[in-house]
Amino acid sequence: MKDIIARLKENGVTLTPQRMAVTEFLSRSRNHPTVDEIHRNIQRRYPTMSVATVYSTLKLLKELGEIQELSIRKRGKACFDPNPGLHHHLLCRKCGKILDIDFNHPSNCPIMAKESIDGCKVEEVQAYLYGICPECLKKESDKKG
Ligand SMILES: [Zn+2]
Ligand SMILES: [Zn+2]
Repeated sequence: MKDIIARLKENGVTLTPQRMAVTEFLSRSRNHPTVDEIHRNIQRRYPTMSVATVYSTLKLLKELGEIQELSIRKRGKACFDPNPGLHHHLLCRKCGKILDIDFNHPSNCPIMAKESIDGCKVEEVQAYLYGICPECLKKESDKKG
């Protein structure tokens, strides 16, 4: 967390308290929040925080390579990941949460081992899996007794 703030300062980024709040919130979150989710949470502490500020801060962090915007969408909304490195994700069909999947790093993926597929050079693999998260599975099995 300190690292990201330090790096932003090194990049000459002016860290207003509001930008700081967005950066802090996202770096602590594990559930790939949407802009609205980030905004709602921060507004409790910063009632004057606008969605536009959240957007512009996320855009800046993305440009600096500190975070990534996922191409998978949470109920149609863009969501953000404090981990800019390649990793896989699972979208839970029950609760709509997006989880990090700790499975073979994408660079070990058999697709990556191929020089080319159908004449295309493969440079990056990010898998989006669809299924049911452990929490929802537990709820289901609790219901069944
Ligand atoms: Zn779930
Ligand atoms: Zn992730």
